[in-house]
Amino acid sequence: MRQETMKEFGDDHDVRDEGRPVTRHLGKAVLVTGAARGIGRAVAETFAAEGADVVACDVGAPVQGAQSTTAWRDDLDGTASSVRALGRRCLAVPVDVRSQASLDEAVARGLEEFGRLDVVVANAGIMQSAQFWEIAEETWQAVLDVNLGGVWRTAKAVAPHMIERRSGVILATASVQARSARKGLAAYTASKHGLLGLMKSLALELGDHDVRVNTVLPGAVHTPMIDNDETGRLGGDSPRTAFFRKMAALRNRSALPPSAVAAAMSWLASDEAGHVTGAELQVDAGSLILPGLNH
Ligand code: NAD
Repeated sequence: MRQETMKEFGDDHDVRDEGRPVTRHLGKAVLVTGAARGIGRAVAETFAAEGADVVACDVGAPVQGAQSTTAWRDDLDGTASSVRALGRRCLAVPVDVRSQASLDEAVARGLEEFGRLDVVVANAGIMQSAQFWEIAEETWQAVLDVNLGGVWRTAKAVAPHMIERRSGVILATASVQARSARKGLAAYTASKHGLLGLMKSLALELGDHDVRVNTVLPGAVHTPMIDNDETGRLGGDSPRTAFFRKMAALRNRSALPPSAVAAAMSWLASDEAGHVTGAELQVDAGSLILPGLNH
């Protein structure tokens, strides 16, 4: 009997090395929030590698109320450079998803530049880490406002265009925390649980207009969001990696590359998924099928 062996994936594994349809999104334009780094950057690069032009959005100093992010320009410029290196156009726009005006402007600029927006990926998110009784009011508000309100505003900004065209796909990055809980992540978990309800509602209301709405639930992804906490780097032999290994069916793939999430989004946005809406796709190395996320 032929024995399949599971490939051990290193920190720098990129699912795009596995081969991809490079014309899947040819001629399309995609807007991505949280595009300066992590999953958002991988989404921008994946869609560009598959033919799409990109509106790359991330929080920037010009937006009132936004946190000062001195590294932002470089990061968003890095995304734009990657997209352009792949032969696609990229518009880098400062957007704070807490502001409807900045999202409306990003959509308007994207339409002006590319004439269309086929796919919108509402990905921007922040995480808090504290016991629920220690979460400050402003932290609670910020997490809900970015992770849940931000997706609502992003969809709201693009919906009129997609309804008019009777075409389009809206995707959001939720999390396995949308279906489970972990100590110290109350606000984040509440925001992601709420996001599933929001996305179901959008799928229902936009279905009449042939606009599809789907959600991806990543497990532990190798990005700055979870790479910098006190339990050490994700990857290699760190305690963090051991922790996530225990919680995944695919133990050798428990720390996902951002490109794994982007690949799922690319499929959900493609014509191959033309009958898929209201879906919640786990990209989590099988962590949700195991008990024990309540650590
Ligand atoms: P990240 O911190 O590396 O990147 C998030 C990006 O969002 C940053 O560039 C940040 O500047 C941007 N952002 C934050 N607040 C914003 C705002 N108000 N307006 C616009 N942009 C803003 O994180 P990541 O891991 O790439 O996370 C992306 C998404 O994936 C988030 O929604 C996160 O909750 C989700 N997610 C991440 C993981 C993981 O393990 N990394 C797992 C599940 C879900």
